[in-house]
Formats: sequence, structure tokens, C-alpha cells
Amino acid sequence: MNRFTRITIAAAFAAAACGHSKPAPSGEGSGTAVETGSGSASAVDTGSGSATPVEPAGPPPTNITLAEAGLEAESLDKTADPCTDFFQYACGGWLAKNDIPADRARWGRFGEIDDRNEATLHDILEDARKTKQTDPVMQKLGAYYGACMDEKAVEKQGLSGIKPMQDAIAKAKDAKSVAATIVTLQSYGISAGFGHGVQPDFKDSTTNALWLDSDGLGLPDRDYYLKDDFKDKRTAYHDHLVRMFKLLGRNDAKAKTAADNVIALETELAKVTRSAVDRRDPVANYHPTAADDLAKLAPGFDWAAFTGAIGSGSLKSINLTNPDYFAAFSKLVTDQKPDVWKDYLTARVVEAAAPTLPKKFDQEHFALEKVLTGVEQQKDRWKRCVDATGMAMPEYLGQPFVAKVFPGDSKKYANDLYGAIAEVMGKDIDSLDWMSAQTKTAAHKKLAKIAFLTGYPDKWKTYDFDVKPTTYTANALAALKFEDHRQSAKAGKPYDRSEWLMPAYIVNAYYNPSANNSALPAGILQPPFFGADRSVAANFGGIGMVAGHELTHGFDDQGAQFDEEGRLSNWWQPSDLEKFKAKGKCVADQYSTFEALPGKFVQGQLTLGENIADMGGVKNAFAAYRAKRKGADKVYVADGFTEDQMFFLGAGQAWCSKDREAEIQRRLTVDPHSPPKFRVYGALRNLPEFAKAFNCPEGTPMHPKNVCSVW
Ligand SMILES: [Zn+2]
Repeated sequence: MNRFTRITIAAAFAAAACGHSKPAPSGEGSGTAVETGSGSASAVDTGSGSATPVEPAGPPPTNITLAEAGLEAESLDKTADPCTDFFQYACGGWLAKNDIPADRARWGRFGEIDDRNEATLHDILEDARKTKQTDPVMQKLGAYYGACMDEKAVEKQGLSGIKPMQDAIAKAKDAKSVAATIVTLQSYGISAGFGHGVQPDFKDSTTNALWLDSDGLGLPDRDYYLKDDFKDKRTAYHDHLVRMFKLLGRNDAKAKTAADNVIALETELAKVTRSAVDRRDPVANYHPTAADDLAKLAPGFDWAAFTGAIGSGSLKSINLTNPDYFAAFSKLVTDQKPDVWKDYLTARVVEAAAPTLPKKFDQEHFALEKVLTGVEQQKDRWKRCVDATGMAMPEYLGQPFVAKVFPGDSKKYANDLYGAIAEVMGKDIDSLDWMSAQTKTAAHKKLAKIAFLTGYPDKWKTYDFDVKPTTYTANALAALKFEDHRQSAKAGKPYDRSEWLMPAYIVNAYYNPSANNSALPAGILQPPFFGADRSVAANFGGIGMVAGHELTHGFDDQGAQFDEEGRLSNWWQPSDLEKFKAKGKCVADQYSTFEALPGKFVQGQLTLGENIADMGGVKNAFAAYRAKRKGADKVYVADGFTEDQMFFLGAGQAWCSKDREAEIQRRLTVDPHSPPKFRVYGALRNLPEFAKAFNCPEGTPMHPKNVCSVW
């Protein structure tokens, strides 16, 4: 039920978690990497006909198998030409063998690790639930998970958990009481009409600000309301709402009217919501607004009551992403009939709480997810309860996870890895022929100040809310409210740069421009990204690519607008900035030609930051791997693949993945990441070292004549 509304532009590696499912957990860790041969050796049957040895260096190569190198021979498709479609070459075997599980919209390496981690977390929580615990952390985890698993109690509770909110909605009779009801829902952390969150002010990164953003739609994006492409999804949403209102006891006619009302109001909100592309521009989405001015801009809503209710107290200034949105929202509060608002607010509450409510509500909620993502079957209850427990108390669940599967030396490995990538990035900056000395100095300053968060937080958060064994909905609401208030209370206070934005068990990583820091959680430090016994080439192609991706985010089209202290402040000489933008345009134009579904293309502007990070990430990880292997006394060849080739197989095989069609459509609309296939294709075809490693002739798809490069 946790629809978090923080307005963060932290750039995460895998993919934005879909509003309907959860970020994933993650599994066992590992230690330092094993030494494996360096950038030279004999060649490989590349399938593309050109298998010439890369310059044989000093020592004779040592032959090993791909498995010994940490790569998967069975995932390859050797009938494919690596110079035509390297994704197919690296992953074709995997694609042929793997179907998308019925309860997933996407299946790939992240999902495989999720499953492993979920099993680990399941063991931890079952143990916490069933055996007597002395540790208060384990007690609380067990109680929360247990209440979720107790389906009989959930049925018995019925709608009692959301009754306080239903009662508040029932009382609304005019614009003023509608506004008061929205305040009540916001105080539970529910995005009704808009979203709120706390993160550093863009211009003063030492201080937290309260941010208000457009939010509160039942469909994934404004486009779903406004574009013909999504007509079938709108119809399905309407049908879903009718059924949901019937479950709440309304008759056919009243349920239909309510569904009409919800969609009508959400369509008005969608019209004033910015597109996903426009929402990426930090300058356009930064409007510090004095409390008095906000009251004038949006007089239909009591903003002081709102900040008081969410726990921010009275604030002199609030940051709006889009003032026009709030002017329109205020007008809607005043102008729309209270009954329309009441139906909309009822929908927001029921959708948020549905996964915690009796089965018929939970299943109806899933019916919508099914349409929006193509997923066929709901996840098993235990999986949903593991996810929900993690959403409620991520830094409690992180503790036993890390203790179980994350050896201490993995932290050091991750730190060293970041250091190695940062070092080659520094050299890369020095080597740029298009950048002036002044801008290079500023870039170095920023790079040197990036803080690395590895494995798990140094200090774990506590969760001080009540959990009872038989009141799952109330527990979930208490968790949501507690975290929302914890965050909101930080507005106007100093920003803590060491705070983590992701659970330790998640299979993901991020860079946060406001903090100028990057996190590599314990959850992603495992195969096929990392393994203590894998070759250097495979590890740098995997986890090295991830670390490189995150650090490059500090210098993508968004990140590059923030300075070394995390302030939205220009550090570029004007002519360098022009060249940087032109390089970005090359990337955006190229990715816009990638066709993900018939007639449906990647949005080059929406995905620009991620694509720049993918390209820079793999390039810098390759340079770091080469530096690490320089002068090695043993050189390896794995089933005929050189170490350079092993690096690229590691990078490619990290992305083996398939999506359902509805999910591709959804992601093309809302996900700032390109589809996995194009993350491999795009990043490697623009990298000359790839073409060299596989001897791809110029003019082949993986070695086009005109390439783009930024970093
Ligand atoms: Zn990213």
C-alpha cells in the first residue's frame, strides 16, 4: 500500500518500482574478486566470422571454462552474430529457456536475485513469526509479517482499518470540508490530489525542504488519461472502479457514477500534470514558494493545516515542482462538487489499503495491476507479506538479511570498486578533447566529493509504531503514517547525507545528485553481478558496470546540473555546456530510433540520463577492469573467449530479460530506463572497445559508422 511520494530524482539502476508492486529484496553477498587473466589472449568463435586473436601479450594464456570465469555458456546463442545483436548473442540461450513467471511482468537477472533474496527473507520472517524472539527488531518483524499472513484475521477485520478515513470522507459536504479531508488523508501518507515529500532544497543542499508534487492518479501516468494509445487501459480502469465501488456496497448505478466521477477528476489532474519528460528538468521543477505566496496561489486549500497535520509544523517556504498544478488543484477543490471529490478520495483510500483488506478487495486491486502490467497471476501471499514487511520497516528487515548473507569483506570490495571506477573517470575527464581546463577542474572537484554508501547503513533507523497480530490494515497504515511523519518532520532541518534511500536487501543501486552520493546495497552484490570466485572481467562487466553507471549519473544531463555539494548550480563554462548538450542530443536521437514494440519507440529524452549512465558506466568499468588486469602474471581464456570478451559477456548477461507487452508499453511511458535489450545494444554499439573485442566490421549494427559518446 505504500505509494511513496518523495520527489526524488535519485537515479536508480534497475528500474523505477511500479506503483503497484514493490521494490525487490535481494540475496547473498560475497568477498573479493578472484584474479583472472588480462586484456589479451586467443580469440573466440564470435559467430560473426572474424575471430582474430587480440594481440598476444607476455605469458601464454591459461584455459578455463566460462563457468570458472563466472559466466554462463548455456545463456549464449552462438548462432547469433555478436556484431549484429549482442543482446541475442549474450542472452539468446537464456531467452529460449526462460518464460516470464505468471506472477511477474518482467523476468530477468534482477528477478532471479529477487527470488533468491525473497526466499532468504521468507526464512527470516517465518522464524521471527513462529519462534519466540528476544530481539525487539525480530519481534516486530515477526508480528507485522504474521498479521499479514493471518488471512482469517484479515477477513474478520473487514474494512475496520480504514473506517477512520471513510468517516472523514463521509463528513465532507463543501469545499472547506473536502480540503480538510484531503489533509487527513495526506497525514496518513496517502497522495490525495497531490504528493508530498522531503529532500534537500536544490539550491541549499544542506537543508531539507518540503516538496509538493503532482500525484494522486490511479493510472501510471498522465498519458493514460489523455492519449488514444491507452483507451483500452482507461476502459479497464473504469470497469475496475465500478467493481471496487460495488464491493464497498454501492448499487450498479451508483458505482458507475462514482467511477465516472473518479475518472473525470483524475483527468482534470492529468491535464495539469507535466509529462514524464518535462518532469526530468530540475530547473523547471524547482519553485521555492513562501507560505504566504502559496496561500495566494492556491487559496482553496489550508496549507498551514496541511503542514501541521503531516508533521512539518509551520514552514516559511515550501518547494513546488509546478505552481500551475497547485493553482489548478486549488480551483478543483473549490469548483468540483463535493460528491465528486468524495468518490475520488474513497478510491484513493481503498486502492492504497486494498492489499491489506479482505480477499475480494485485494483481488480487485490485482485485477487492475494485471491489466496495466500484463502479469497473469498474483504473487503468493507469503511473497506479498515479505514485500509488505520490507516496505513497512526496510531497515529492520535489512539487519537479519545482512547478517545472514553479506560477509564483511564485501563492503570493502564495493568501496574499492567505487574507488577504481572513480579513478578511471578522473583520467577520462583529463583526456576529453572537448572540455576546457576550467570545467575539468570543476568536474574533478565533483568526482572527488562523491560519497560511497556500500552494503548497508552505518546506523539503522528505528520504527516506533504499534503492531498488533490481528490488525493488518491498521498496522500498515501506522507504518505508512510513521515513515511519512518521520520524513515530513525533517523539513527545514539539516540534511543527513548518510541516509539511505533504498533497503539493504534490494537488487538495485542509485546516485543521489542532491547528496552527491551513490549507494550499492548488499542486495546487488551477488551473481550474476558479482561473485567472490568469478573472474575480474566478469565482475567488472557486472557489478563494475553498475558502479560505473551510478557514478556517471553525477554527470548525466540531470546530475551535471548539480555541483560537488549537491546544489543546483552551474559549474560549466558556457561553450563546454553547449558541447555537452550536443553530445546528449546525439544519444537521445539515436535511442529514439530503437523500436521496442511495433511502431513504439524508446523516448530518447525520457531515457537520456539513464542512457548516458549506461554508456559511461560500461566504458569506465571496462577501463577499470583493464587497469586492474594490467601486468597480471596469468592471462585467461574461457572456452575461447578473451578477457575483453568475457567483460562484455558479463555486461550483456547481466541484462538478460523479457517483459510482457503491457509492461513494455507502461515502461516506455514512465520508466526513465531503456528496455534491457537496448541498454546492452545502445551502450555497446557506441563503444569502440566492444567492436575491437569482437572484431566487428564497421557498418555492422554493433559498430556503426557514427557513434555517440558523452563520457
Ligand atoms: Zn540509473
